[in-house]
Amino acid sequence: MITSLLIANRGEIACRVIRTARSLGIRTVAVYSEADADALHVREADEAVLIGPAPSAQSYLVGEKILAAAKETGAEAIHPGYGFLSENAAFAQAVIDAGLVWVGPDPASITAMGLKDAAKALMAEAGVPVTPGYMGEDQSVLTLAEEAAKVGYPVLIKAVAGGGGKGMRLVEAQEDFADALASCKREAAASFGNDHVLIEKYIASPRHIEVQVFGDRHGNVVHLFERDCSLQRRHQKVIEEAPAPGMDAATREALCAAAVRAAKAVDYVGAGTIEFIADGSGALDAERIWFMEMNTRLQVEHPVTEEITGVDLVEWQLRIASGEPLPLAQDQLAINGWAMEARLYAEDPARGFLPSIGRLDLLQFGEAPEGMGHGRIETGVVEGGAVSPHYDPMIAKVVAWGEDREEARLTLAGMLEESAVWPVRINASFLVRALHQADFANGDVDTGLIAREGEALAQAPAPSAEVLEAAARALVPASDVAGFRLNAPAARTGWFLLEGEPVEIALGGQGSEAPVGSVLLAEQGAAWRLTPWRRDGAHGGADGSGAILAPMPGKVIDVAVEEGEEVKRGQKLLTLEAMKMEHTLTAPFDGTVAKLNAEAGQQVQVEALLARIDEAEAG
Ligand code: ADP
Ligand code: ADP
Ligand code: MG
Repeated sequence: MITSLLIANRGEIACRVIRTARSLGIRTVAVYSEADADALHVREADEAVLIGPAPSAQSYLVGEKILAAAKETGAEAIHPGYGFLSENAAFAQAVIDAGLVWVGPDPASITAMGLKDAAKALMAEAGVPVTPGYMGEDQSVLTLAEEAAKVGYPVLIKAVAGGGGKGMRLVEAQEDFADALASCKREAAASFGNDHVLIEKYIASPRHIEVQVFGDRHGNVVHLFERDCSLQRRHQKVIEEAPAPGMDAATREALCAAAVRAAKAVDYVGAGTIEFIADGSGALDAERIWFMEMNTRLQVEHPVTEEITGVDLVEWQLRIASGEPLPLAQDQLAINGWAMEARLYAEDPARGFLPSIGRLDLLQFGEAPEGMGHGRIETGVVEGGAVSPHYDPMIAKVVAWGEDREEARLTLAGMLEESAVWPVRINASFLVRALHQADFANGDVDTGLIAREGEALAQAPAPSAEVLEAAARALVPASDVAGFRLNAPAARTGWFLLEGEPVEIALGGQGSEAPVGSVLLAEQGAAWRLTPWRRDGAHGGADGSGAILAPMPGKVIDVAVEEGEEVKRGQKLLTLEAMKMEHTLTAPFDGTVAKLNAEAGQQVQVEALLARIDEAEAG
């Protein structure tokens, strides 16, 4: 067995590999970029080596720097994780040439499966059914268009070097073909440095079903059953599960046998995934499931396979890389229960899934609800850490196991509902809605579901009246206070700022003996900050510092003072327009306008510093 391992990756997968390596008594070495100096994988490894600036092209993607780090620390083996250099045959070869152990397949296997057209040709030869289409050398527009017509619309144009859902165009009709081809080739050239494409029949109601395979250096190949990754957004996986809904024993047998044939055709060693596309318009049928591509690495969604088989796939990778035979034979592997994984992203579904970057002031993952299945979190971040703009915004994988699909699904939904991150936005409530969507709940899912249901799933969640009220009471003094507009005691309401937006909240119960300045409330996988809204200037200088902050986002419509001017307590400083209302900000005490940060017409964010008043000397 190897005794030391360098992990050429970051985030959750680096942490995942470190965890297993440690349990096997293997010394671990992390590499990190300048942006990751405080990252979790750096803290968890026994040693860590800085390999360069934040951009991955200058750090995590530079093979020489990683090899130098291995040499410097005496690491015996390199695990590439997924993404980055994991499917780079030249890097794998360089690792081997440096006398190190490469935790992955032979470079020749990576190369054989690296381009989708060559891989499909190889698979067809090995008797694996491949998606019907054209995968020839001739790349002229005329030939490609003719071939597309032969295949029959709709067709998919795919960059042969593509990955991560990029470089793909669905074409519904002949007249759109030329434009789609040109744009696909442009994207392929820019993203992959290779503009070759293939044409594929677009499978109706497509379901993405993949098979986990494993090979060793003693000629053995086994499969660890299938995963269904049909819930996708823009060809990228969102929720994955194992086994696949509606898969009967005979179909599974045929599919997994085809996957093993595929792996054997390239003398596959280590962990790999054979991806298939299935026609989901009827019941699953081995005759209507075709090879799509092979990923020659550990897959993001490998935990669902671990959960149903009880196998630690990283442990198998390390054993096989060390020359050991596969720990279990095919007839020793069985499916136990059901597992589901959701990719938790730092992104805002309500804003077109815009990545959300920044500090993680609050980071909390839900546990499996009482009486349900069990849960597992794979993450690479910690509270107080940050989501960097330089890398993939996935912050965790939330995984649930149950006796059956329903239990796994509800366990996962429960875990996501209890997760909360702030101020970074996450997609948890989107995931919860997807899990509760009627078709998904029935196991009736195809890759178009999110596109069809998108709007309903992506809506911004809003906190319930009960949660708002409880939070508001923590802000209001028990004895009431000026600045809150209170009605008759029976139906009191107060105004607050929820993430900077004014809200009126009914206050049924008591306020707090020790009111706080703000609270974070969390519900349905989302989190918000609630602050008191002291209107008409009371907000400015409320903390006694003389800082005049914008009480909400809005537009400055009038500035009544100048920098250096002496002002009296209560004197008007500026006027803000927001929510179609005007709000006057006044001086909190007698003093001088030490700083003025606002001009008429300017848009300002909530809590923007508009002015600062220095208090006049008493006396
Ligand atoms: P998968 O099915 O494992 O998601 P894909 O072929 O769709 O595989 O994607 C390629 C892999 O590269 C994925 O594992 C994806 O998460 C990973 N990846 C993409 N971009 C990055 C990045 N910036 N940093 C790390 N990993 C990345
Ligand atoms: P990548 O390398 O980007 O992962 P894939 O070939 O694995 O590319 O395809 C990604 C996704 O695109 C699949 O999971 C599936 O949703 C969709 N897809 C690919 N090929 C087809 C096809 N022939 N018909 C319908 N959908 C497809
Ligand atoms: Mg794929």
